[in-house]
Amino acid sequence: MTGNQISLYIHIPFCSKKCPYCHFFVIPDKESFQRKFLVAFLQEWQLKSPLLKDKQIISIYFGGGTPTRLSLAYLTKMVAVILSSKVAANCEMTIEANPEDINPELLQTLKDLSFNRISFGAQSFNDNELISLGRGHTAKQSINAIQAAYLAGFDNLSIDLMFELPNQTPSSWRKTLNQLRDLPIKHLSLYNLTFEQHTVFHQKKQQLQKLVPSPEECLPMLQEAVESLKEMGFERYEISAFAKSKAYSLHNTGYWLGRPFLGYGPSAFNYWEKRRFSNLSHFNQYCNFLEAQQDPVGFSEQLAFPHNLYELFVIQLRLCEGVNIVAFEQMHGPLPGDFLEICERLIVKEKWLSRDKDRLFLTDKGMLFYDSVAAELI
Ligand code: SF4
Repeated sequence: MTGNQISLYIHIPFCSKKCPYCHFFVIPDKESFQRKFLVAFLQEWQLKSPLLKDKQIISIYFGGGTPTRLSLAYLTKMVAVILSSKVAANCEMTIEANPEDINPELLQTLKDLSFNRISFGAQSFNDNELISLGRGHTAKQSINAIQAAYLAGFDNLSIDLMFELPNQTPSSWRKTLNQLRDLPIKHLSLYNLTFEQHTVFHQKKQQLQKLVPSPEECLPMLQEAVESLKEMGFERYEISAFAKSKAYSLHNTGYWLGRPFLGYGPSAFNYWEKRRFSNLSHFNQYCNFLEAQQDPVGFSEQLAFPHNLYELFVIQLRLCEGVNIVAFEQMHGPLPGDFLEICERLIVKEKWLSRDKDRLFLTDKGMLFYDSVAAELI
């Protein structure tokens, strides 16, 4: 990673409906909202463009929401503006897609716009589980969408999969995992369902928790996933990310390594000059601020030394290769002695960390208890 390399995240907030477990900022995909969004995005682009001077963009990620719900004319306009800046020749350009939106015209447009990676919100290959999640696609639609994208020339395909779902069983999970054998994907992100505040699932938490697999079932399900994926040739390179043929997500790796990034769109996060900030999670306010040529920032935080280092360290620890202490200190400055003493305790007593020369990394047990590791270190 060199000093001038950066990433861009574009939050496209549109969805055809809100999934009951989703805590992202989304709004209906109405034409009038989309038009207003495009105007606001172009204003935000102008406002932030001085920050891009002397920077090289090495990854661009269109997330959401559902970017593929955006009108292709608007998407084309946005991409043209972005690509007019200093973008690396081999820039990773990812777009998230829902399987039900995939069709030949969309795939051709994505190719023409230089997208070279698609991340599908597959979530499960069991139709009953997809219904429980309130998703708008079937397992068959996911399979068809992935195959169509591959045949259209996208060879860097990723999917999201979820476990700990209502009515999911070890046997249905195994079938979902087995489905992966036949799919031309290179990357997979594995998440467990969480009951986030302000979601329908959170309101129904008590009722739903009776339907999700017990903790005694979940641990073997996760272990089975890790083992099956390994056997299929997927390398676990981060706690929840797996890749074949080293097709690591360049964009997400930037989050874990502390690469600066700018976020565009309502609720989008930014990490810039050691400051974390996010845009307003309110559509009209976001648009109004930009119309008035004001930064649409809703939250901002700049951690003081040494907490800024602790946070960078703990995030980087999510990578399976861990943190090279010497390289980390060269880049960010020396870590306080008491912090390294805590690391030592986590190696010797808890066995959550391990050491190989200058490199500290999570053990298998540490991956399971990552939240506790982070709580000890931050
Ligand atoms: S499609 Fe994705 S972003 Fe949209 S509501 Fe569902 S989970 Fe949230």
